[in-house]
Amino acid sequence: MTALRMPEPDAGVFARRAEIVRRLGEIVPGEGVIADARGLAPYESDGVTVYAQAPLVVVLPETVEQVSRVLAYCHQEGIKVVPRGAGTSLSGGALPLADGVLMSMMKFNRVLDIDFPNRCAVVQPGVTNLGITRAVEHEGFYYAPDPSSQIACSIGGNVAENSGGVHCLKYGLTTNNVLGVEMVLMDGTVLRIGGKHLDSPGYDLMGLIVGSEGLLGVVTEVTVRILRAPETARAVLVGFNSSEAGGQTVADIIAAGIIPGGMEMMDRPAIHAAEDFVHAGYPRDAEALLIVELDGPAAEVSHLIERVAEIARGNGCVDLRVSNSDAERLVFWAGRKAAFPAVGRISPDYLCMDGTIPRKELPHVLARMRAMGEHYGLRCANVFHAGDGNLHPLILFDANVPGELDKAEAFGADILRLCVEVGGCLTGEHGVGVEKRDLMPAMFDEIDLAHQIRVKCAFDPKQLLNPGKVFPQLHRCAELGRLHVQRGALPHPDIPRF
Ligand SMILES: Cc1cc2nc3c(=O)[nH]c(=O)nc-3n(C[C@H](O)[C@H](O)[C@H](O)COP(=O)(O)OP(=O)(O)OC[C@H]3O[C@@H](n4cnc5c(N)ncnc54)[C@H](O)[C@@H]3O)c2cc1C
Repeated sequence: MTALRMPEPDAGVFARRAEIVRRLGEIVPGEGVIADARGLAPYESDGVTVYAQAPLVVVLPETVEQVSRVLAYCHQEGIKVVPRGAGTSLSGGALPLADGVLMSMMKFNRVLDIDFPNRCAVVQPGVTNLGITRAVEHEGFYYAPDPSSQIACSIGGNVAENSGGVHCLKYGLTTNNVLGVEMVLMDGTVLRIGGKHLDSPGYDLMGLIVGSEGLLGVVTEVTVRILRAPETARAVLVGFNSSEAGGQTVADIIAAGIIPGGMEMMDRPAIHAAEDFVHAGYPRDAEALLIVELDGPAAEVSHLIERVAEIARGNGCVDLRVSNSDAERLVFWAGRKAAFPAVGRISPDYLCMDGTIPRKELPHVLARMRAMGEHYGLRCANVFHAGDGNLHPLILFDANVPGELDKAEAFGADILRLCVEVGGCLTGEHGVGVEKRDLMPAMFDEIDLAHQIRVKCAFDPKQLLNPGKVFPQLHRCAELGRLHVQRGALPHPDIPRF
């Protein structure tokens, strides 16, 4: 476990713990409250297990009214709340607070309405991403955004993180596939934004809510767009002897006006780890592997496969295979989809970074990352959503070796600063959470950050919902703008700073 500066715990809340547990039990009776140390243990961390903290208490509401009453009570009593879905976040967004209530939304697990004529489904936030596709596939439909964690992660978490996946290059991220949400604000107010219709008058609040990382409200219902499954999907597996050639192929495919259903790249260490794990038939001697999926009507797919193959050959590929059956296509993907656990087999620990760069910068960024790896003495395996320019460097280390975690974190921070330096950004799809919180000033100046915090304050003026995440400094809503210290006198000295 590593030290992480979080908001100062409120001693008054600890002192009232028994009373808080009792009140929550009244609002969510039966098995809705977990307060014993053993029961709290599974909630101590999310996918970023290097940070762990038991919450004050876990509450598992089942109805919107319960969510609203719990939040209103916590608002009135000044108690912090951290929303949680399936706990697969890779940025520490669901990390509990010692003096905070952890609100698990996993009992909200029902599909409420499937509306095929309007091409949408209304689901509760605890339904898994894959669960939505499972509910509509009997009629030939699916939900397009497909994080690799889709078997486990919840749609509520996807909304909070604006999650992406292989298919997002062509079909958009979560934000492009969510039509409406119901959300409960920290003071208990229930708010509906959007719906089955395509556009809404006024500000684009949906754009604000998707990706808000549990800081603005607790999502209790989501209306998602569902799509007809494509008639055909085929994949091309291409090996290159340099990542530059792979990166150029990606750029040439997009420049040719082809938008693949998915376009993913892996470097040599990732290829080897995946091949050893799932035996997908990846070329072990390749420096870079590209998987390009084309989907649509069969004739169009055949034509596009040929064009992609031509472009790859033009860039000197050393291996090229086209899937001839759906089973073979899925085998091509199996290695990529299992890349994270595969890397977990070759290193005691790894940090999964998530940054985005303009596509053309890929070769330059890869070369700089190699140099950084040598500087820190750490290995790095790379998987990319190549079409989106979204990098996932996996930094390998051993937390039992003193100092290695610090080195891995410094290496990761350097990579993210590099993404910003070349015109990209700090996150592609995993969110900021606590992992990238302190790097926000590398991307935003004080004015940008102050405006973002103003938005937070409009929804949650007491800063009780998921505090300590996303924003590098704890501002109170009264204290926005520049911190001007005059003659050593700190403005608002009562505000806890961390
Ligand atoms: C092996 C693995 C592979 C992954 N692959 C991908 C990938 O390909 N693409 C990708 O984008 N991500 C990926 N992820 C990251 C993760 O799965 C996503 O961020 C996912 O959306 C998190 O969903 P969750 O239900 O687990 O949310 P949690 O981890 O529980 O929470 C994540 C954030 O959402 C907030 N939140 C959760 N539910 C609600 C709610 N109902 N209302 C308000 N806020 C809420 C939490 O407060 C927290 O800030 C991967 C993770 C793992 C472990």
